[in-house]
Amino acid sequence: MSNLSYLKPQPGSPWDTYLAQVDQVTPHLGPLAKWVETLKKPKRALIVDVPIELDNGTVAHFEGYRVQHNVSRGPGKGGVRYHPDVTLEEVMALSAWMTIKNAAVNIPYGGAKGGIRVDPKKLSPNELEKLTRRYTSEIGVIIGPTKDIPAPDVNTNGQIMAWMMDTYSANQGATVTGVVTGKPIELGGSLGRVKATGRGVFLTTREAARNMGLALDGARVIVQGFGNVGGVAAELLAQAGAKVVAIQDHTGSVKNDKGLDVPALQAHARKTGGVKGFAEAEAIGDEDFWGLPCDILVPAALEGQVDEKRAERVKAKLVVEGANGPVTKAGDKVFADRGITLVPDVIANSGGVIVSYFEWVQDFSSFFWGEDEINLRLEAIQLSAFRDIQRIAAEKKVSLRTAAYIIACQRVLQARAERGLYP
Ligand code: GLU
Repeated sequence: MSNLSYLKPQPGSPWDTYLAQVDQVTPHLGPLAKWVETLKKPKRALIVDVPIELDNGTVAHFEGYRVQHNVSRGPGKGGVRYHPDVTLEEVMALSAWMTIKNAAVNIPYGGAKGGIRVDPKKLSPNELEKLTRRYTSEIGVIIGPTKDIPAPDVNTNGQIMAWMMDTYSANQGATVTGVVTGKPIELGGSLGRVKATGRGVFLTTREAARNMGLALDGARVIVQGFGNVGGVAAELLAQAGAKVVAIQDHTGSVKNDKGLDVPALQAHARKTGGVKGFAEAEAIGDEDFWGLPCDILVPAALEGQVDEKRAERVKAKLVVEGANGPVTKAGDKVFADRGITLVPDVIANSGGVIVSYFEWVQDFSSFFWGEDEINLRLEAIQLSAFRDIQRIAAEKKVSLRTAAYIIACQRVLQARAERGLYP
């Protein structure tokens, strides 16, 4: 019934992983299960051609997407990703995970995501700007502050959000700051937004560790991904006394059993483009990274990184998903069978979209808050959502992921049922 003619997901692919997560929650939804098909298809998927003239005078065409998975609880919300491997299927799964995430932490959004199939590292700043502006114009028919609000994701940042905001505003004939979040502070951005996702990963790691009786002070942590999520999470975990013993990014893997100097590694990565070649660490093989002795693993790069083979080798007692969908459904089962606690993406990395919500609220009211207030409100929302999930997991004897899906899917489908079908 749920088959889509335009998509044939492979085992372990993002949409396949997402569908398995929905199947796992369905028996817990009671009468709301009537509406569960809603979750198995995106409400709206737009594919656009993004042509730009390159600096050398030739014309290049890129594939762009914006998918609105669900808008039952409010406008679509979710990032835009620039990556050579972006596909419609990936963006669909990422948009669905935004639906679940926004409902799990109870912020008034549906779920959406966008992407362009491009390697932005191969573009000049001028080409990147043209690409962003043309893409924004093409998806301009479906985005807007009350319709769907993009934000940064993999390989996109405040500058790209500034170009998106400017392009949308130029087409509208008025400055519309609330059309995207993750903007620079000068353009209606929010204090605390840049570090919010990493901060949230840190907060949920600390809370989960406390629950397990695992002292964060001295705990050995390994992190995959050293960007806006993994880098900030590593920094805050180290500040809290944890020993970040290994980091892997797209340039390689480094370890230091005594604990990496995270700020020094950040400076190195800023200068050279990655962790590779960091003098105060030992280079290790990318596959060896997964089997390193540690207490906590934070996969904070891309989806599908931890399959059953890697999950078998993981030594951590606690896995905190900084990325969206980093563990495949087979990997998930291995962790469950091995009794490893896993904090799912939809709660662990929700800090970014929570502070995006604050940014959007501040833009609407043109009244801006201080950073301490933002960090306090972030912590209050994220940790109370996490505690609800832990309570449901204990009550129903299900994984934290299934508990998060129970809460989130009930909220989405309750809204669906109350709104009713039109016509
Ligand atoms: N891209 C981030 C995520 O996956 C943030 C999305 C947002 O702020 O809208 O959660």
